[in-house]
Amino acid sequence: MSHSSGRVYFKDGKVLWFEYNGTCDVIMPWLYKDDRELDAHWRRGDDFPSCSCGGPPEEVIVEWHYANGHYVPGHACRKCMVIIDPLDPWDTHYDDMKDGYYKPDEVRIRGNNEKQKSN
Ligand SMILES: [Zn+2]
Repeated sequence: MSHSSGRVYFKDGKVLWFEYNGTCDVIMPWLYKDDRELDAHWRRGDDFPSCSCGGPPEEVIVEWHYANGHYVPGHACRKCMVIIDPLDPWDTHYDDMKDGYYKPDEVRIRGNNEKQKSN
């Protein structure tokens, strides 16, 4: 139906933004430093990049605001500015999410600044 914004939380407190494609229920892997940069690249396309630096993936919390909002553990590379996984959260992490997915207080608090787009 629509796209919405999401955020990736690194363990050191770094937060980056991404776009969630609610039409296809997929996470778009590009990471942006803030919502302004995200807006500038809104609906960028489907040519999905991946991590190419060879560095170790960092553990992150991936949060997006489609429907009631969701949180899943995942991996990202801030050097390549991409989310590595999960890009198809409904397929690969559906059971995790149903069973009370990881939802740290920090994410819940920051989630109050929720932002949703209808188009
Ligand atoms: Zn990388």
